[in-house]
Amino acid sequence: MSAIRRLPPQVVNQIAAGEVIERPASVVKELLENAVDAGALRIDVTLEQGGSERIRVVDDGCGMSPEDLPLAVASHATSKLRSADDLFRVATMGFRGEALASIASVSQLTIRSRRADSASGAELEVIGGQITQPQPAGCPVGTSIDVRRLFYNTPVRKKFLRTPQTELGHATEALHRVALAWPEVHFTLTHGGRQTLDLPPVADWRQRIEAVVGRELADALIWVESRDGDLRLAGFVAHPDHSRSHNKLQYLFLNGRHVRDRALQHALGEAYRGLLLHGRYPISFLRLEMPPELVDVNVHPSKLEVRFQDSGRVYSQLLGTLRTTFLSSDLTSRIHAPEVDETENRGHDRAAAEQMQRELVAWARGAQGGSEAAAERPTAADEQDSPPTLTLQPLARRWPPAEDRVDPNAVASGFGALPARGDDSTAATVATREAASEAGPSRPTALQIHNKYLVTASADGVVVIDQHALHERILYEQLKRRFDAGSVEVQRLLAPVPVPLAPSEAAAVLEARQTLARVGLLVEPFGQDTIALTGYPAALGRVAPEEVLRQAIAQLAGGGGQLSQRELVDELLHMMACKAAVKAGDPLAPEEVAALLAQRTDYADTHHCPHGRPTALIFTEKELDRRFRRI
Ligand code: ADP
Ligand code: MG
Repeated sequence: MSAIRRLPPQVVNQIAAGEVIERPASVVKELLENAVDAGALRIDVTLEQGGSERIRVVDDGCGMSPEDLPLAVASHATSKLRSADDLFRVATMGFRGEALASIASVSQLTIRSRRADSASGAELEVIGGQITQPQPAGCPVGTSIDVRRLFYNTPVRKKFLRTPQTELGHATEALHRVALAWPEVHFTLTHGGRQTLDLPPVADWRQRIEAVVGRELADALIWVESRDGDLRLAGFVAHPDHSRSHNKLQYLFLNGRHVRDRALQHALGEAYRGLLLHGRYPISFLRLEMPPELVDVNVHPSKLEVRFQDSGRVYSQLLGTLRTTFLSSDLTSRIHAPEVDETENRGHDRAAAEQMQRELVAWARGAQGGSEAAAERPTAADEQDSPPTLTLQPLARRWPPAEDRVDPNAVASGFGALPARGDDSTAATVATREAASEAGPSRPTALQIHNKYLVTASADGVVVIDQHALHERILYEQLKRRFDAGSVEVQRLLAPVPVPLAPSEAAAVLEARQTLARVGLLVEPFGQDTIALTGYPAALGRVAPEEVLRQAIAQLAGGGGQLSQRELVDELLHMMACKAAVKAGDPLAPEEVAALLAQRTDYADTHHCPHGRPTALIFTEKELDRRFRRI
């Protein structure tokens, strides 16, 4: 007798269920997708115990005829595919015809359905894989699917379920994903008799996003859009002020289907390079539309991952679109408390005001901490590891400011020149003009406070600039331009500087010799474990070259092995910019301040330092008016 036997269908379905149905949220996802495929405009989800006791999804879609009900729960039975060819042009959410069969094999399931052309509906039950005969049943047009006691017959699976609250969280996320993809559909979610979500249909996608993630984030979204032949990208990404420590808020919808794609997440990260701090992730809501034959959706059990025919093309379109958008967007950080209706939510408003108050006090004291940006600043030690005796070469001499760049709203340095009376809105301008007439050709200027921040004005409001962060970004951009042009200016050392190193360090330096040369650090072997430094980047000014080499070595050692050439170069340029930039604590001469301000507009991305900290905060006029209770 043969030892190999065909498995009974119930077992086959349970095996399939193992892949597709992991937890209540997976059931919610599959049932929602079926409802959307059925053309429903209203879908109500009801859960008990996070869905492990009961999941009911009611839709007003096309419904099924009584004869179709047994087929719906049979495996590999679908109305969405006809032939193998159809697999390469899937336009529906489902296509495999195994979701209902899988769910039915691990739960007690009841379907009720009625088509619009039928006077009455029918009901069918599946318990432990046993299908009953469809019975006539009174029901509205559409389908209602009731899944009870999930995993009742697979105790091992049941053991893996978490608390109802956790399962509810996953189920809610599953609903969010479908709801974000289909704003024209009305969704509700009820848990334990209480409605937890009501998402009425909306015409504007932003409104659906707001309903799902809240007003504050929705207000910080930037529209992005592009088309490359038959490939269309449209949606929103968040201002870099808003980021997360995880990448779960990176929503990507491919032809209406929520998908995850590592390559595209990488492209997103690349686009935000230098705009976010290390370990922070951008937020996005992006729709990608392309002909279905350009993508294989049949590569993952729950269709969460897909395979693009030309993933490189999709990658560069996303990255290119974001870069172009960012270049034309103002990404400066704005101090902004969430808008609240005062009559409705006073406690909230007070908390926001107190937070603002704390930030302001901390800011005025030059204190670290308070805001997140301040908390994540490099430590004092970080900024002090260059020789303390270093005197600053005036910026104005290093990079003369163009005389014709004048910020008409800039405040004069010092507050002595305030006009006696006048319209508040012109005070700053008047002050500038007075200062300018005394000082010859007018230049953008600012007040330096605590030897750390520059306070100036813009059309928008009051701007507070972190002198180190801004200078660092400017130097980085300059170094990078020269690097890209292959023209990093090298200062040759008349007498090479010997730098004794540990053997592993010396080896690493020599191995990276070419890369170091490209960023302007010239090294030669000098016997034993000593390296001779023969040249360094001229842009570093008076920063001790040996110090820079040691920092570069630290970078080579720390993750150097894993970094790509480009990433390593980038790190080196960051480090050099950081070393050469003015520090917090450096007093600046007025012409240095002017040069710094002038160059703020010369480069893209001056709103963030290369490590992703903001270089400036704007207290908008509107925000000030609100704070001073003028509006
Ligand atoms: P698939 O969605 O891959 O086709 P399913 O097992 O999820 O497979 O569903 C099987 C079939 O049952 C579908 O092809 C569809 O014809 C029918 N069906 C399932 N849910 C619904 C629904 N809510 N409304 C109408 N028809 C449905
Ligand atoms: Mg389906």
